[in-house]
Amino acid sequence: MTELNSIIQDAFNLFAELIALQKSYLSKISLPRPFVTQEEIYQHLSQGETIVSFYLPKIDSHLLSELRQEICCLISKHRPEKAGQIEKINGYLSDYPHIYKDFLQKEQALPIPQGMLSEENELLNFVVYQTMRPFLQKFASQTHSFIQADRWLRDYCPVCGEKPTFSYLRREDGKRVLVCPLCATEWNYRYLVCTWCGNQEHQSLKFFEVIDVTGYEVYVCEKCRGYLKTFNEKKGTNHDDWLLEDIKTLMLDMIAFREGFTRPGGKILQ
Ligand SMILES: [Zn+2]
Ligand SMILES: [Zn+2]
Repeated sequence: MTELNSIIQDAFNLFAELIALQKSYLSKISLPRPFVTQEEIYQHLSQGETIVSFYLPKIDSHLLSELRQEICCLISKHRPEKAGQIEKINGYLSDYPHIYKDFLQKEQALPIPQGMLSEENELLNFVVYQTMRPFLQKFASQTHSFIQADRWLRDYCPVCGEKPTFSYLRREDGKRVLVCPLCATEWNYRYLVCTWCGNQEHQSLKFFEVIDVTGYEVYVCEKCRGYLKTFNEKKGTNHDDWLLEDIKTLMLDMIAFREGFTRPGGKILQ
């Protein structure tokens, strides 16, 4: 096995277990229905405001800390060399449970805690992000009916504000659908526009394909050097959970990096 294949396999093993763990929590999470009217939601959305910017889901802190601890154990199991850092992070998070609220209110950019190295801070953000995923997915599933996915047309998630890191082209009409990596909300977006910088100049927007990764196109923007992996349903047949697909196709990220493109905030390559 080449070194690249072994990196991809290790990442896949970790994420497959992580996603299964998050899914197992979906049935345990019970959130009160958002106490806002449909009209209020439409009004905020029409101004480009995300749902969490005016309504924070009420999350059970015990369940949240239970999942956080399980995620910490899982990371330590797969990355024993990080066990010491994970223990420190887990301790920090049990002392500061409000960090999850900060995460939602500050659009996911948490300040670096005192005494925390930047590498540890990255890991801390990863733990918080992954712990929040099933809670926000549950929340998003309650708000789906309020969101007109074909009318939002913005480059960030209407529920949580996260930037999409993945998209697909719908088989039936070829339309481009963006996928939120945090809460799994899907919405439509224009085909030839960069989701990172809004560039619409067609001559600086291109895509490449790799024979070994069937069904995938990687859209690159020569203006901001960002890229977005896209699954074309007309070219590929089956697919897994989008986050797992993201991991399975890490080879495309490697090629994009090599060509000088980046995925801002790419939280997958830990
Ligand atoms: Zn989202
Ligand atoms: Zn761009």
